[in-house]
Amino acid sequence: MILKTYPLGLIGTNAYLLIDDESKEAVLIDLGGDFHLIKDELEKNNAALKYILNTHGHFDHILGERDAQQYFKVPVYVHEDDKYLVENLPKQLERFGFVANTLPPEKVITFTQNDIFKIGDKEIKVIHTPGHTPGSVCFLLDKMLFSGDTLFYTSVGRTDFEGGSFAKLSDSITQKLFKLDDDTDVYPGHDSKTNIGYEKKYNCYFGANNI
Ligand SMILES: [Zn+2]
Ligand SMILES: [Zn+2]
Repeated sequence: MILKTYPLGLIGTNAYLLIDDESKEAVLIDLGGDFHLIKDELEKNNAALKYILNTHGHFDHILGERDAQQYFKVPVYVHEDDKYLVENLPKQLERFGFVANTLPPEKVITFTQNDIFKIGDKEIKVIHTPGHTPGSVCFLLDKMLFSGDTLFYTSVGRTDFEGGSFAKLSDSITQKLFKLDDDTDVYPGHDSKTNIGYEKKYNCYFGANNI
């Protein structure tokens, strides 16, 4: 499995490109900006993009998706509880003080907890982790967790935006993510990677050493 990280868009949100080297199938997780680096990587590997998955519906994770969807002709997926955020992309931009000149992807398909996406013969599992937004999810592929804005290196996502809940975030992290194996690598929506074992100890909100 090839994994590439691209910090893109207005606030450098991580887009993750997974390419299965056997089947040459590829999956993109979040796309906050221009897709051309991703296109180059796909061509270099002779791979075909299968779909775009979203960890949640915030503007900085979806800004490049309309263009990418039109170019690659792939479906865009988001959890059913965050579909309204994707559809309200221009409103979100306005609210955060940016120019509202980007349209959302045209067709968005929803998924729920426990849905599974395939890449080659591997499975990407959906873990619903509400809190940062109602429809925030993490994607688990073997020992790689794509955590969106739920869990960061020594930190967690904000819960003061519309639809946020610190109580739900707390449950999502302690009851779901911290039950994963300690050596699960965590690839967040912003900044650098971490792993579950490290966060269980040192996370500023939920780490054992800080409580
Ligand atoms: Zn967010
Ligand atoms: Zn974000």
